Amino acid sequence: MRILVLGGDGYLGWPTALHLSDCGHEVAVADNFARRSYDHEMGVQSLVPIEPLQQRVDAWREVSGKEIALYGGDLVDGEFTVGMVRDFRPDAIVHFAEQRAAPYSMIDRKHAVYTQHNNVVGNLNVLFAIEEVDPEIHLVKLGTMGEYGTPNIDIEEGWLEVTHKGRTDRMLYPKKPGSFYHLSKVHDSHNIEFACRIWGLRATDLNQGVVYGQETPQTARDPRLATRFDYDAIFGTVLNRFVIQAVLGHPLTVYGTGGQTRGLIDIRDTVECIRLAAENPAERGEFRVFNQMTESFSVGEIAKVVANSYDGAVDVEHLDNPRVEQAEHYYNVVHTGLVELGLDPHLLSNTLITSLFGVAEAHKHRVDSAAMRPTVQWRKPASPMRDQG
Ligand code: NAD
Repeated sequence: MRILVLGGDGYLGWPTALHLSDCGHEVAVADNFARRSYDHEMGVQSLVPIEPLQQRVDAWREVSGKEIALYGGDLVDGEFTVGMVRDFRPDAIVHFAEQRAAPYSMIDRKHAVYTQHNNVVGNLNVLFAIEEVDPEIHLVKLGTMGEYGTPNIDIEEGWLEVTHKGRTDRMLYPKKPGSFYHLSKVHDSHNIEFACRIWGLRATDLNQGVVYGQETPQTARDPRLATRFDYDAIFGTVLNRFVIQAVLGHPLTVYGTGGQTRGLIDIRDTVECIRLAAENPAERGEFRVFNQMTESFSVGEIAKVVANSYDGAVDVEHLDNPRVEQAEHYYNVVHTGLVELGLDPHLLSNTLITSLFGVAEAHKHRVDSAAMRPTVQWRKPASPMRDQG
């Protein structure tokens, strides 16, 4: 298949592009390098050094003999997006290319507006490009489990059968997201469902859990193929951050009681889920939703797993939760769709964490400890006017 990976310079987009290429697909990657500019803006960097995208593509050619085409541009630019889709003519588009940090979207008005504009408009341009160039193209879109929030009923895969006053309908599952970033994903899901229903497009929305891990069999083949590893309080996902705190001898910073439960997934399963979704497309007119996670853990449990697998003393520090989220809640997620397509999950085991400790150990001199303390407060957006007053 011809597969276009949007956001191919990112934490997940790059290893996914390599996995698809390794499986024999014709792959192209697109990116506007916004993620690298957030690093500059926030004064942080990936723990593991990463090469410029062109160098990564060259290294993959050297290592595997395979070509990956590269498009540099911004999805918010509709002409660029449609031109790229017309030029590459993919069978499937995998869309990772969004601003993906909840704290970044909650900094202030500017960052909330940027996040929703970048994500919602970019995704709309992708939908219009597919409609214009070839409605057969299958869109595989990354959503997040955070779209659902923590409802007091089971979380189904995107749809819910509702009986109300004696009548029954199949409806999009009601969402209760926890940040302006998560809201942008909800808006995307609605726009995609609409495009499937009205134009007959085909799409798979993957509501992904929190990803952990840094290596896949392909990225491990050469240091120049490494993907990013973020640990800071804005972009670092929880397990990755705890691993680095353990290695540095810092306490693991658990927000609130640590009772918040989330779905998790190993990076090696992420890339495999994308392959499965791309190779088994949705039907024309179908808005298919999978919950792309393999296990649920509370934040406190994740801290325990990290502490128990580290060969040294580890403390846990409970910080006031900067986010607004339920401390204790029901969490039961249906996630059978991808397993039915053939996913054989890697469950959180000491083996993976041990290898992550190795990655953290090798690069710990690059850590900026101050960047691990949360600064963004959900209840109180930053405001230049308020700060002056
Ligand atoms: P990332 O920030 O590392 O990668 C996203 C890439 O998209 C970056 O390289 C960025 O430069 C690019 N991009 C952003 N806006 C763009 C635009 N307008 N035009 C072109 N390129 C643009 O993020 P990631 O962790 O790899 O996540 C990828 C996707 O998976 C995101 O949509 C995210 O919401 C979703 N997701 C990630 C996680 C996780 O734990 N990392 C969990 C659930 C869902």
